[in-house]
Amino acid sequence: MNILVMNCGSSSLKFQLIDAQTEELTAKGLCERIGIDGSRITFSAAGHKKWSRQVPMDNHREAVRLVLDALTDRGTGVVRDLSMIGAVGHRIVHGGEAFSKACLITKEVKEAIAACSDLAPLHNPANLIGVEACEALLPGVPMVAVFDTAFHQTLPEEAYLYAIPYRYYEQYKIRKYGFHGTSHDYVSHRAAQLLGKPYDTLKIIVCHLGNGASVSAVKYGKCVDTSMGMTPLEGLAMGTRSGDLDPSILEFIANKEGKSIGEIINILNKESGVLGVSGGFSSDFRDLESGLAEGARALGVFALRTAKYIGAYVAAMNGVDAICFTAGVGENSAFMRDKICNTYLGYLGITLDEEANHKRGEEIVITTPESRTKVFVIPTNEELAIARQTYALVK
Ligand code: ADP
Repeated sequence: MNILVMNCGSSSLKFQLIDAQTEELTAKGLCERIGIDGSRITFSAAGHKKWSRQVPMDNHREAVRLVLDALTDRGTGVVRDLSMIGAVGHRIVHGGEAFSKACLITKEVKEAIAACSDLAPLHNPANLIGVEACEALLPGVPMVAVFDTAFHQTLPEEAYLYAIPYRYYEQYKIRKYGFHGTSHDYVSHRAAQLLGKPYDTLKIIVCHLGNGASVSAVKYGKCVDTSMGMTPLEGLAMGTRSGDLDPSILEFIANKEGKSIGEIINILNKESGVLGVSGGFSSDFRDLESGLAEGARALGVFALRTAKYIGAYVAAMNGVDAICFTAGVGENSAFMRDKICNTYLGYLGITLDEEANHKRGEEIVITTPESRTKVFVIPTNEELAIARQTYALVK
């Protein structure tokens, strides 16, 4: 069965078509600038030349229509007709407390996703528009929602509660939810498989270090803590997001510069993180690693923050069996892995295998056989994880 995996943002749509039985990627692509001038679709498929075209897309439904046309195109497509798409798996960012696992999308599920929109105002409405566009163009095809927050619903109360008046949790559900759950789930399971031990006997820390970044602690098969919070702004320093900071800074900047809370949150989301610390130089780690002082300053902040979260989660789990690096930076930056492990993690008995640390693009142990704690690089595959969860629900 072919599963179409959809990841809809406010002006973009990423998709993959995956064969659920062989788990092979049949086609993938992206629609950008939906509803904005200069919309573009990019499409690549096994055995075909990758192409990209500027086409007007006024809304997500038009974008989905173009994706379906591309998939079924006589010349460059990959399926005969739409009946060959067995199900659609949608990435949904926020499931609140309503969803602890993936589920088939019904009218009630859509209402519950909409009800979580005030927790993720930029993401959930866009995710729902993608669902409805697919429902309109693929009538009768089952749709599945896979939530970024679901994996973290096992957090115990002491990890998810903020130390603020309890009524805020009761009234508004203000609490830690966590994100990147599909990736933390996938990578922690792979780590257990690579260790050859049952998932529910292990203590695993997953560092998902991409443009957005988060760490999670998985103890005996359950996620027990994670660095992102009610929104994806908490935790690590990221590409452009600040992560943790003293909340009084908001009031201080508001007074100094006459800015609203909304304007400051925008700065914390879009102009902070390694971009901000590097003085606006770059949010891309490849640029930051080029040797300039601004880059080194930002990388220093990023590495220390990440190492402190790892330390916190060793404490939260009272030990650790394996630490995993994944996502753009975690998978590709030997420099950052080296900096984190060699500067800060010696107390865990970690010794890096320098040669293994410099390999690219594979699942690999990057510690020496003597190392007391194993460190892995495990490329994440959120789309495959979504396709698997979708297939499990519809087969
Ligand atoms: P997201 O999905 O959150 O947008 P990714 O997981 O794709 O992000 O990570 C993107 C980031 O990965 C880029 O911003 C870049 O900093 C980093 N990255 C990619 N390749 C390399 C590399 N070879 N060395 C260092 N960093 C890299």
